[in-house]
Amino acid sequence: MHELSLAASILDLIAEKVPSGASLHKVNVTVGPLAGIWTDSLEFCFNELAQERGYDNARICIAATQAKVRCSACRTEYDTGGFMDACPNCGSLERTVLSGTEFTVDSLETED
Ligand SMILES: [Zn+2]
Repeated sequence: MHELSLAASILDLIAEKVPSGASLHKVNVTVGPLAGIWTDSLEFCFNELAQERGYDNARICIAATQAKVRCSACRTEYDTGGFMDACPNCGSLERTVLSGTEFTVDSLETED
């Protein structure tokens, strides 16, 4: 359960900024399609843990990004939403990942 430990790290980060019991209602995170994270699972784990730790109303809002890769065969750079997209130019699956492996917590929203 990789996502469970990620959810725990997000909540550790939250605990540094927002006291437990405060009205945290939204956590914005960005997950790249090549980060190897199941966003559904992350959301589920986050909801469970958030409640356990006293952030009852906290929702996680996951923004998916596009990944950019460069084809190793023909050097075409293209956007991809996942691991299974072949090069649109030559059909090769060999490529170098340029971006798309990011996982960041962007902002926390509280009600005032
Ligand atoms: Zn190619």
